[in-house]
Amino acid sequence: MSTPASSSRIAGFHKLPIADRVEAVARFAGLEPGECAHLLDTGNLPAELADHLIENVVGTMNIPVGIATNMRIDGEDRLIPMATEESSVVAAVCNAARQCYDAGGFTTSMSGTLMIAQIQLTGVGDPQLARLRILERKAEVQASCDACDPVLLQLGGGFRDLEVRVLETRGGTMVITHIVVDTRDAMGANAVNTMAEKLAPQIAGWTGGRTNLRILSNLADRRLARARCVWPLAAIGGEAVRDGMLSAYHFADADPYRAATHNKGIMNGISAVVLATGNDTRAVEAGAHAYAARNGRYASLTHWEVTAEGDLAGSIELPMAVGLVGGATKLHPTAKIALKVLGVRSAEALARTIAAVGLAQNFSAMKALATTGIQKGHMALHAQNIAMMAGALGEEIERVARVLVAKGTVRIDVAEAELKALRAG
Ligand code: NAD
Repeated sequence: MSTPASSSRIAGFHKLPIADRVEAVARFAGLEPGECAHLLDTGNLPAELADHLIENVVGTMNIPVGIATNMRIDGEDRLIPMATEESSVVAAVCNAARQCYDAGGFTTSMSGTLMIAQIQLTGVGDPQLARLRILERKAEVQASCDACDPVLLQLGGGFRDLEVRVLETRGGTMVITHIVVDTRDAMGANAVNTMAEKLAPQIAGWTGGRTNLRILSNLADRRLARARCVWPLAAIGGEAVRDGMLSAYHFADADPYRAATHNKGIMNGISAVVLATGNDTRAVEAGAHAYAARNGRYASLTHWEVTAEGDLAGSIELPMAVGLVGGATKLHPTAKIALKVLGVRSAEALARTIAAVGLAQNFSAMKALATTGIQKGHMALHAQNIAMMAGALGEEIERVARVLVAKGTVRIDVAEAELKALRAG
């Protein structure tokens, strides 16, 4: 029996060549030939590679890559590739970096490149004894983990520590084993997951319990990237601006409603570099937000204070599980070029650079919010997007956008009316 075009049950979809998948989707969704051709144009990511990166590929999604200029990090000038669809994000980093460049830019550091994998153990009547039984096997745990990844071991990475926690849950007492692994220049998810899966039956054997989940923690708090920077009072525009920014920070640090948006702004910069370098944006986002709530209340990822000289000092610290190898980093051609542009030679240097970008982003967002408001900077590009949505083409885009900004009403209906008037001459 053939499947009707309206059914989502498409047998063997994953086995089809990309063109046939697109045809099946076109039948389902009524795509025009031009829309199918658009999907099949995968741009600068070869279709064959895309087909190997994820499942059921029918196309690629292009996101602009911009370069943030003016960044000086640990005494070295760096150009920062950022992949984002949001206007003002790249400009924000350029602006913040320009205002601290002459004062020396950013100073960064890192706590290490350690990842944690968790093994969940349930059904043990004597959890405290089980905990010690596991801890006593540290040498065996190390041997088991290190045997999983001789490449990592050769590079100076591998097992570093063993921690076991007794956790009270709605489903009873659990014994949670953490293996702490140095994953060097890899983000390390696959590396530590493999170790955890191998270790789990041994843990069950030592304790008589049942192991369940075996997976890394994205709260990578042994892999903290840090950046700090001082913006001279004169460069930022005086005391009123500085104090407005400090007040914005105090608000964010005290109120989760504000902190969510404050940190979202930070992640605008961070995720854009994470994406441009082929790293896992969701892993970094999850780590950042979990870290922001580590004290029981969601708060700011940055800290701001006034120096003895009256300048504005900012700092950031957050988990940064990114790599130079593994995942898409070494496969995606744009990611490889982005890493070359960045000129970083270790995952640690990449992580530290990304932290500096997050701090720069936060500076600009707070400054805009505490002075002219965020919309002024956003509006020029946003107005162009609205003009395009209204149907403006070529030179019309800029002309319609200018009118929208001048009128102070960046709305689709106004853009449509302006476009109509423009075309009517
Ligand atoms: P990977 O397994 O592709 O590569 C890491 C391996 O590369 C190491 O284990 C090592 O054997 C080898 N290697 C070669 N040179 C190295 C060097 N200089 N430093 C370190 N290792 C080197 O990748 P990975 O980093 O283990 O995993 C990353 C991928 O896992 C990402 O695609 C991520 O999206 C995915 N992932 C994430 C999660 C999560 O975040 N929750 C879960 C599962 C998978």
